[in-house]
Amino acid sequence: MQTTLKIAVQKSGRLYEGSMKLLKECGIEVSNGNNQLRVQAANFPIEVFFLRDDDIPEYVQDAVADIGFVGENVVKESRKDVDTIEKAGFGKCRLSLAVPKNGTMKTAADLNGKKIATSYPNILNAYLKEKNISASIHEISGSVEIAPRIGLADAICDLVSSGSTLFTNELKEIETILSSEAVLISNKNLSADKKIILESLLFRIRSVKKAKNNKYVLLNAPNDKVKTICELLPGMKSPTILPLAESGWSSIHSVIAESDFWNVIQQLKANGAQGILIIPIEKMII
Ligand code: ATP
Ligand code: ZN
Repeated sequence: MQTTLKIAVQKSGRLYEGSMKLLKECGIEVSNGNNQLRVQAANFPIEVFFLRDDDIPEYVQDAVADIGFVGENVVKESRKDVDTIEKAGFGKCRLSLAVPKNGTMKTAADLNGKKIATSYPNILNAYLKEKNISASIHEISGSVEIAPRIGLADAICDLVSSGSTLFTNELKEIETILSSEAVLISNKNLSADKKIILESLLFRIRSVKKAKNNKYVLLNAPNDKVKTICELLPGMKSPTILPLAESGWSSIHSVIAESDFWNVIQQLKANGAQGILIIPIEKMII
């Protein structure tokens, strides 16, 4: 019988879309039309289990699933014995301390002697210990942001992405205690066969991530500027230079990191580049 790798994905919620999209970009076809608990991929030896995100670290630890996509915040809070093998590039958020906007507390140190509501008691406790802050933790499982208003706590420790939930609840963020994104976690004792499937999945995930972080650039430049422009665009090996039909001009092709993009574009223009085209890359294998 062919070995299948069991992957846990959040059943519904903030990580569902990102997880399914990444599998799709990796060329793995999973149809979850009937809201099933488990689905075998059509063209890759993987079976997807749809679960609550909080259960994923435990299921992976206990080998109910071999690997899973879950937030780093959940992995850290759960304290399960699993390997974190790759950042997934979606589900970015932060676990922060927040206090009433119009109150007197301004820094984490002001939380001494106060009560903090959170769904992340383990992470918060470790943070308070490390910072030598003596505060009591009130654990609640949802709607943490309303705790100060109803008199349940003085402050909160909760997940934030845009900050709009804090804003509507008249809270302000005073400290980030963990930056988080979805990660791929793995059981620590995968069989050799499963490791081979995981390597092949990881190769695809890394190619997709690399492609997302880079763009293909095409531009025209006068020949006397080609050398300077190439120095600005190192590319994967070195840029491709092709002569244009118009003499004295060349077309330069290269790859540029998304993070450098705006900075480099300015310099390219300043050095005489024209007709600059930026094209998304679908997969990138180096
Ligand atoms: P489940 O029903 O599976 O238990 P949930 O309500 O606990 O779902 P979601 O709100 O869907 O979970 O969040 C899942 C994960 O998405 C979080 O653990 C976190 O890693 C990530 N995330 C990204 N942005 C945010 C945000 N603004 N608020 C909460 N979680 C976020
Ligand atoms: Zn959850």
